[in-house]
Amino acid sequence: MTPDKNTAEMESTALLERAMPSAKESRDHEIVLIIDDEESVVNALTEFFSLRGYEVESAVTARQALGLIHEKSFGIVICDLRLPGMSGVELLDHAVEANPETVFIIMTGYASVQSAVEAMKKGAYDYVVKPFSMYELEKTVRLGLEKQKLARENLELSHLMRKLIEIDQIKSNIISTVSHEFRTPLMSLKGYLSMLSDLLDKSDHLGKNEKKWLRGMKDNLGRLEMLILNLLLMTEANAGDLLISEDSVDISEVIKESVARVDPMTKAKDIDIEVLGENKGYVRGDTEKLSVAVTNLIENAVKFNLDSGKIEIGISETYDPNGLRISILDTGIGIPDDKLGSIFNSFTQVDMTHTRRFAGVGLGLSVAKAIVEAHGGSIDVTSKPGRGSTFYVWLPRGNGGDYGTDRKRIR
Ligand code: ADP
Repeated sequence: MTPDKNTAEMESTALLERAMPSAKESRDHEIVLIIDDEESVVNALTEFFSLRGYEVESAVTARQALGLIHEKSFGIVICDLRLPGMSGVELLDHAVEANPETVFIIMTGYASVQSAVEAMKKGAYDYVVKPFSMYELEKTVRLGLEKQKLARENLELSHLMRKLIEIDQIKSNIISTVSHEFRTPLMSLKGYLSMLSDLLDKSDHLGKNEKKWLRGMKDNLGRLEMLILNLLLMTEANAGDLLISEDSVDISEVIKESVARVDPMTKAKDIDIEVLGENKGYVRGDTEKLSVAVTNLIENAVKFNLDSGKIEIGISETYDPNGLRISILDTGIGIPDDKLGSIFNSFTQVDMTHTRRFAGVGLGLSVAKAIVEAHGGSIDVTSKPGRGSTFYVWLPRGNGGDYGTDRKRIR
């Protein structure tokens, strides 16, 4: 076989050189093994690939080839399909067993193309039909190396992905265990504190300062409780284990309670909260969890508001027979357009720096979203930086009657 390099071929090789990584880059330390019983072919290929900078080894019998394959690892094997004593396909099995990443290229005559195609089904990378040009063969080799490199990178990526999933699982387990462990002593602290303050109230021994301290303890325990509740709900939601009870929920009651929960912060910032309209809105769902969702939204409206700012909370059910919409408008700092899509992700905040102005862990919105969606509802926001934000929660209404309590698992 003579290497015949015509102009078109040179052009296509030049194109390939530009489109692909340089030969040196893509063939990092790859050794080429050339196997053919025709010595002239082996010599020509050895010379060509050596000149092109490859490290080359060769064999003219199947036995010799087997010896080499088991002795060292070859990145590329170029093998004649028909060898005396053993077919190229059998050698392919050995080569792949010795190095599963081997790029195995079959050289075949036109009459045996079918067998070469069969060899590809068994793991050969490609075949070239004799007589072929050296440049055509080198192109195949380089494409094979490129594919090998991609396969290697893919493997590394999937290992990395598995590791990340494992780490994420460990993180969720830690958060879940720690939150559960926190909850018990916190509840007990809350109980003791309430008994103590009742007792002190009755004994009339409380001065102005003592009352303030007790209130401070209660407020901070309340904040801790909300944080732990959010952490627990987030792990449940991530695990697909958010249990939603089906009772008749009076949304105006939920709003009233949520407003009361954030009262200390509201007072501290001198914020005016107005609940619009007297409409009673009922939905079917989980009172406790809806209350967490609404509290998270109202708490944000207070937290990200300016001192002496305003909040308007509305329930609108006039135009939608299927559901009701809660709107929470604030006159706070607002949210930049490019952040509106990400703030509902866990642990995501507009300001992620350690020196940020507002406390928080970035869970409130993701938990609110998970709860609302578990009810078949949706949550949305419009905002103008410097002017304020309005969060909208739409909830399917249900009939609003007395449904009793029934638990269902939302996945
Ligand atoms: P956290 O309040 O703990 O930071 P959230 O998940 O409740 O976490 O909110 C995520 C982020 O969305 C906040 O850190 C804040 O940047 C932005 N955000 C939420 N609500 C408002 C709001 N009413 N006004 C301005 N920014 C808000």
